[in-house]
Amino acid sequence: MRYTYTQSLQTICCLLLLTASITVAGEAADTGRKTAAGRTQLVLLGTGNPQPDPDRSGPSMAVVVNGTAYLVDFGPGVVRRAAAAFRDKGVQSMDPMAIRIAFLTHLHSDHTAGYPDLILTPWVMGRRDPLRVYGPKGTRSMTDHVLAAYAEDIRIRTEGMERIPPESLQVQVQEIRAGLVYRDENVRVTAFPTKHGDWKESYGYRFDTADRSIVITGDTTPTQATIDACNGCDILVHEAMTEKFLARPGRPNPQRFDIKAYAAKYHTTTTQLAALASKAKPGLLVLVHNPITLKPVASRPLASTPQDLLDEIQAAGYNGKVVVGRDLDIY
Ligand SMILES: [Zn+2]
Ligand SMILES: [Zn+2]
Repeated sequence: MRYTYTQSLQTICCLLLLTASITVAGEAADTGRKTAAGRTQLVLLGTGNPQPDPDRSGPSMAVVVNGTAYLVDFGPGVVRRAAAAFRDKGVQSMDPMAIRIAFLTHLHSDHTAGYPDLILTPWVMGRRDPLRVYGPKGTRSMTDHVLAAYAEDIRIRTEGMERIPPESLQVQVQEIRAGLVYRDENVRVTAFPTKHGDWKESYGYRFDTADRSIVITGDTTPTQATIDACNGCDILVHEAMTEKFLARPGRPNPQRFDIKAYAAKYHTTTTQLAALASKAKPGLLVLVHNPITLKPVASRPLASTPQDLLDEIQAAGYNGKVVVGRDLDIY
């Protein structure tokens, strides 16, 4: 059937309406392709932050269970990093066309700049199932605006020679509150509130599967909610800013805002994380979103390194197992 321009506009409007329809939390999802039952994996896709670091993609990771990927955040580069996890690391469920479930910690641009890519690229390349996205208030509006921004692209791809089915461009959005937000035969996902400066809502997520518990906080100051959510979890993924980074003079900060005050309101230092993790007691602490460089350069002798992170956390009294996450690491 050929879509007219008017029909196409109606379809797009329809898609926008679909994003407004609330899917039922906890409803079992069709989990698609299966691999042999195995260990739950945490796949780090992007371990960076707003800095356009070519070695670290924008914040994004996935919990992979029984061949299904549950994405958390979609920073810039998410689709290509997923493709790398699929092609180079052999994680079948990271095939970008197979990603259908995503959770969002908050709406900061470094965590969402990959959203148009996540919605559109797998659709163009053959995804035929709708994407389901769970996130804080504002996720629906962002989704609608992304689809509206690409209305002409969508019209041409659906009406033109490609004839891509518009139905599979659906994005089923659920704006969540703290508590159980998703469950299927693989996983239970529980959201907990985080504290991230002026954001009214931001969430961390705890994933419980048959063999593992994984807590992903997103950006946050240290909170009791994170300690409670982990409480001896297998893996805690948390951000950390080095004291060295905060203390260094002359850091690039054109706005000249008070970086220490900003960090205290929005983020977590290594010293604070050492105290938090000592109470949360994860089996493994994975550090991401850190202001570090993986390739120290002569022009940035004061830049923090992964070793600085580890040294500071241990010096602050944390004795547990801790690693600095890198893109495409799998735990
Ligand atoms: Zn961030
Ligand atoms: Zn943020």
